[in-house]
Amino acid sequence: VFDLSGKRVFVAGHRGMVGSAIVRRLASEGCTVLTASRSELDLTNQQAVHDWMAAQAPEVVIVAAAKVGGINANNTLPVDFLYDNLMIEANLIHAAHRCSVQKLLFLGSSCIYPRLAPQPIPEEALLTGPLEPTNEWYAVAKIAGIKLCQAYRRQYGRDFISAMPTNLYGPGDNFHPLHSHVPAALMRRFHEARHTGAEQVEVWGTGTPLREFLHVDDMADACVFLLKSYSDEQHVNVGSGAELTIAAFAQAVKEAVGYQGKLVFDHSKPDGSPRKLMSSARLHGLGWRHKIALPDGLAQAYRWFLDNAAEAR
Ligand code: GDP
Repeated sequence: VFDLSGKRVFVAGHRGMVGSAIVRRLASEGCTVLTASRSELDLTNQQAVHDWMAAQAPEVVIVAAAKVGGINANNTLPVDFLYDNLMIEANLIHAAHRCSVQKLLFLGSSCIYPRLAPQPIPEEALLTGPLEPTNEWYAVAKIAGIKLCQAYRRQYGRDFISAMPTNLYGPGDNFHPLHSHVPAALMRRFHEARHTGAEQVEVWGTGTPLREFLHVDDMADACVFLLKSYSDEQHVNVGSGAELTIAAFAQAVKEAVGYQGKLVFDHSKPDGSPRKLMSSARLHGLGWRHKIALPDGLAQAYRWFLDNAAEAR
């Protein structure tokens, strides 16, 4: 068991949904959390990342920093998703090696898997087939990150591990109308429709794709669990097993927001992968399970949106 208490833990990406959830979760671990603001440290700058890490001397690094976004952002900003993510992860992982960091956790995404992977998707499906074209830029960068962690383990014996979350939602999400993921996009759209009295709300695609959702606080808990108990080159899926169609998910968000109108499906927008359910059997075998059920999690995320984001947008 790797003990976090008393350790200096650098959370890269602490302003994001996942990073901020990890910072909240680490509060009960008795460690010192280190963060760097964007103006203080440009993670795409190799020298800056090395100098910052050498000066701050973290013992643990969590790579929750990434250029992220939903299906439209991924599809339309390929350079941001490929170049920025390659630079961020390569700089952090290499600097962690040079600074002899004891443990590093790299975070990826379920989009690393082939578009038509067997379902539920086991970790072994990585690199067995072509990727989903709408997010291959992000996927290729994240696959490189997993491989970098494996490479530093093999060549230098570094204890660098990787976790791949399923689709996440929760407090701190990005509610951009075009660039967000589906949970935040729909929450905002239903919220605005409720306030303007609009009779219908548009949902992208056909509503038939299947997705699995996990609350970000469960993800943060899984990260701490893996940091403490996992040390292997195989990346680990983190999911809830709770799979539903986008149409059913939209209905659940609609209920959380209390919107009464109709859903209409915009078939001109992409569906993305037909199905993306991860197998979390490996993580369950290690002894971790998620706790937050989707309706409770959505209600909590909506309260957060009302308290923090609704007015600003
Ligand atoms: P993905 O899981 O990588 O495809 O990422 P997203 O969270 O962006 O999209 C999930 C699914 O939700 C896709 O099938 C989208 O077509 C669908 N979807 C429906 N409405 C929206 C929306 O307003 N925004 C986004 N991002 N996706 C939507």
